[in-house]
Amino acid sequence: MQRWNGWGDESVTYALSAEALAFLGERLGPGSPIHDATFDDACAQVPASRLAPHPLIDTRPATRVRHALGQSLPDWFKLRHGRIGAVPDGVAFPDSALQVRQLLEYARHACVAVIPHGGGTSVAGHLTVAAGPRPVLSLSLQRLSALGHLDREAQLATFGAGVYGPDLEAQLRAHGYTLGHYPQSFEYSTLGGWIATRSSGQQSLRYGRIEQLFAGGEVETPCGTLTIPTFPASAAGIDLREMVLGSEGRLGILTQATVRVSPLPPHEAFHAVFFADWGQAQAAVRALAQARLPLCMLRLSNALETQTMLTLAGHKKLVGLLERYLSLRGCGDSKCMLMVGVSGDAAPARAALRGALALARRHKGVHVGRHMGDKWKQGRFRNVYLRNGAWEHGYVIDTVETAVDWSRVAPMMAALEQAGAGAL
Ligand SMILES: Cc1cc2nc3c(=O)[nH]c(=O)nc-3n(C[C@H](O)[C@H](O)[C@H](O)COP(=O)(O)OP(=O)(O)OC[C@H]3O[C@@H](n4cnc5c(N)ncnc54)[C@H](O)[C@@H]3O)c2cc1C
Repeated sequence: MQRWNGWGDESVTYALSAEALAFLGERLGPGSPIHDATFDDACAQVPASRLAPHPLIDTRPATRVRHALGQSLPDWFKLRHGRIGAVPDGVAFPDSALQVRQLLEYARHACVAVIPHGGGTSVAGHLTVAAGPRPVLSLSLQRLSALGHLDREAQLATFGAGVYGPDLEAQLRAHGYTLGHYPQSFEYSTLGGWIATRSSGQQSLRYGRIEQLFAGGEVETPCGTLTIPTFPASAAGIDLREMVLGSEGRLGILTQATVRVSPLPPHEAFHAVFFADWGQAQAAVRALAQARLPLCMLRLSNALETQTMLTLAGHKKLVGLLERYLSLRGCGDSKCMLMVGVSGDAAPARAALRGALALARRHKGVHVGRHMGDKWKQGRFRNVYLRNGAWEHGYVIDTVETAVDWSRVAPMMAALEQAGAGAL
């Protein structure tokens, strides 16, 4: 069962170790846990639905509460304090594009606002229900999840837009393919949600961001079906895909999407490299990115994040040894960790890694091998569960994203950290 007021599966926990708690206490002060509202409390506040009974719409309070908010920090506060605000008047679970069309038709006639719902991991507030006179229908795509067609020659796969990340990859893996799109929310986000939010995955350097992977699809709009064919490229007019990408469901509901897939990579590896400080690390990553080596991932953490990750990792002895070695190599308290990934055929992937490590060495990077990369890969979707563990002790973890040109990276990072510290 999915948590109604936190991240992920109720049976999965990620407890903070004593060292991690001591570290947080030292850096942030003691945590002040709050008393969480119960699910029953939250459901008890839900007003009667304003929708007339409809065979495809569930108006039970429990279902409506579960579709009321996303996963941003403000959403968490509302859920945990049991102050959810407006909830949808009902939730529909169509199992075909025809049913989506019928529901939009119904909503148009009954003057009901519709909010498409994928996995509900939005951190941008786009699932929030506006309080007002108009009833609101949340339209869940989760029943549209099948792989409809796989064109091996063109390497195109067509899925129902509500397919969750793990289900999508499992269906492709059975045929020897991957999409390679891994946002950190992979476990609970959907293909349609990725497209509607222009999402970016951890291995986008090789596989492409969702805008490079989305080839075409079907969108049900209040005035008809929009079919976006799969052109590899076009020299004529605007690209209709761009209207859907990042639209947050405002133009209509994506019911199926065709994506560009790749054969499963025979080789994949993630290696850790440390730099003495942020200046050195940033220069190295810029050089690596601008060299356009065929890597799948470059993931750089600043000194604070590096220290936090090493402490929260929980392997005290191993991390202690690593830190002693790094300090002998000139990487002390200001050290920054870079994770370098390659994915694909073994020979070119290994060659790309060798090239990357040589370039990192020229920037005084200290390569510590594959062990930390393997650990990172194993835990990359489990780490999100730390949000729940930290909350229990009165700490919050949030995720934000941005993109700036290289010349603005350092000032932006400093400003962001300062703003975050001030606001919290
Ligand atoms: C812990 C955490 C980690 C995250 N990591 C990343 C990350 O690494 N990269 C990243 O890009 N994002 C990340 N996100 C943000 C979020 O997961 C993404 O925006 C994701 O793409 C949302 O997908 P979803 O299926 O959950 O969509 P939802 O949250 O359900 O919906 C998001 C938006 O898309 C609309 N929508 C959903 N499905 C459809 C559809 N079929 N047709 C039309 N509109 C639709 C909704 O109305 C809403 O506006 C993270 C979020 C969390 C909480």
